Amino acid sequence: MGSLQLLEFSHDRYNALQGIVEVDHHLRTGTFFDRELHEIFAAIDDAGLSRLVGVALLHGHFDAAPGQAPTQSDGKGALRDCLVTANAPVTGDRTPVLLKAAYHDGASVWAVAPLEYSAIAAAKVAWAHIMKQEAGLTRIVETIGQLGLDDLVGLSVLPRTDRKLGSDEAWVEQTSAVGDDMHWANVVAAQRVSDVVFGDMIQTVFVSPAQDINPTACVPVCDVGPTFCNRYGQMHERQSNHGRRHT
Ligand SMILES: [Zn+2]
Repeated sequence: MGSLQLLEFSHDRYNALQGIVEVDHHLRTGTFFDRELHEIFAAIDDAGLSRLVGVALLHGHFDAAPGQAPTQSDGKGALRDCLVTANAPVTGDRTPVLLKAAYHDGASVWAVAPLEYSAIAAAKVAWAHIMKQEAGLTRIVETIGQLGLDDLVGLSVLPRTDRKLGSDEAWVEQTSAVGDDMHWANVVAAQRVSDVVFGDMIQTVFVSPAQDINPTACVPVCDVGPTFCNRYGQMHERQSNHGRRHT
């Protein structure tokens, strides 16, 4: 325990992520939703990070391209109200927004491994606050690791954008081919709750019950909030290449 070990981005680690349907299935066959999720939230609440850090189901959307890492930015054109995560060149100035507990053999500790980044200012501000709680963050990843859930469950930085959800909206994510070259991306869009059929959804990000938020229902008041994706229709399947969509 002690100071935080923040690892470098690893293509192999990212590309080893399973699809969301497999991850969701694993967790539903165990006690995750009854017990482990509450243990992780207890560590998050103890660290004072319940408004800044949520629990994410770890899953891939596409392969990380060589020299690049999945990075979230504001959408453009028809996607201007969305958050879009796609491969982007690795630069020095990056904010991690999706984190995994990874056992660091060399140091014999549970370390924090970034899986996705953001180029959006709101995330950078949140990350600066999170890094002031290094000991708490370390304790959270130790909890996930000791529960044996490190390949299934990680941490999501909750503030991603200045865009506030409306009173009848939730974030819904979907793997899509975007841009003129139709490259793969994860597109997160605000969707009217009344239009969302929750039985058809997998929740991919959970927020602490300490936020007075019901994690299984939608959250009108939360600007960051849980995120959902469609269970059916291959709208959220992991795509095996990072280049153009081949149809
Ligand atoms: Zn996803």
